[in-house]
Amino acid sequence: MKLSPNTAPVEPDDLLIRLHNMVGAAVDITGKTYGDGSRWDCHGCGDHSERPVLDILAFTREQANAHAGSCRAAYHRLT
Ligand SMILES: [Zn+2]
Repeated sequence: MKLSPNTAPVEPDDLLIRLHNMVGAAVDITGKTYGDGSRWDCHGCGDHSERPVLDILAFTREQANAHAGSCRAAYHRLT
């Protein structure tokens, strides 16, 4: 079975930033732009920010970008 990067999953209503990992899979940052309340989810490997803790956007963005820069997973079937 060929796996293709999950590059364009459905955009959540609260999507703030969409990054892409090393192979093009989306890494979404969702939540609020100000104050506490943002998180990230990788559509390549299924990793995500800690739950239920929601971080400030700058911290979430830094974590998501670091993950996207090192993740090579193309697609996950985790639910
Ligand atoms: Zn990942």
